[in-house]
Amino acid sequence: MSAPQAQKAPPVPPTVPPTLASTGARAAATPSEPPTPKVEPWEIEVVRAKEFIPRAKEGLWAMITRDGVAPVIKPVFNWAGRNSLFPLHWGLACCAIEFAAAFGSRWDGERFGLVPRSSPRQCDLMIVNGTVTWKVAHKLITLWEQMPEPKWVIAMGNCATGGGPFRSAYSVVPGVDKLVPVDVYIAGCPPRPEAMLDGVLRLERLIQERKE
Ligand code: SF4
Repeated sequence: MSAPQAQKAPPVPPTVPPTLASTGARAAATPSEPPTPKVEPWEIEVVRAKEFIPRAKEGLWAMITRDGVAPVIKPVFNWAGRNSLFPLHWGLACCAIEFAAAFGSRWDGERFGLVPRSSPRQCDLMIVNGTVTWKVAHKLITLWEQMPEPKWVIAMGNCATGGGPFRSAYSVVPGVDKLVPVDVYIAGCPPRPEAMLDGVLRLERLIQERKE
């Protein structure tokens, strides 16, 4: 008789390390975060702009349908106008040196949206920065009339405000408000660039509150 054959052992399955997907308890204890995509700063700005413009359109349209055009458009118009004043690029006397300095690198008037333009047809602000004589008065009025509406005037310094040290002279206009309507007066002989910029900020507040 032949010897009984030895029984074979069942095959052992290979050991597999547990994973987060296969063990529910471990997955709940340490939830895996979705990987954060790498976004460049300029991409964030594009996304924001894409979201902002349709929402701003929706909001403006809702306000227009509720209140009408005028109460919505005028504040927007005033906001845009006061932040982009274009003063006439000219100078009358010593105050003009301070006017020029206000646009240099130290005071940097352009950070307020002030951009001097050489053509009165592109300007909405006349800063009268010096002594106004009767001889130049008609030129000043011509420049003022060439500027489109809406437009404003700042009398910069004592001469433009009231004639200054030359008030009693036969040849000097005792204040430019005898020729054109003045919105803001700036005292000083000469006023410093900071004073000129302060006058511009005061004008911006007037424009912000403008109703017509
Ligand atoms: S106010 Fe004084 S600094 Fe200005 S233009 Fe007249 S004299 Fe010159």
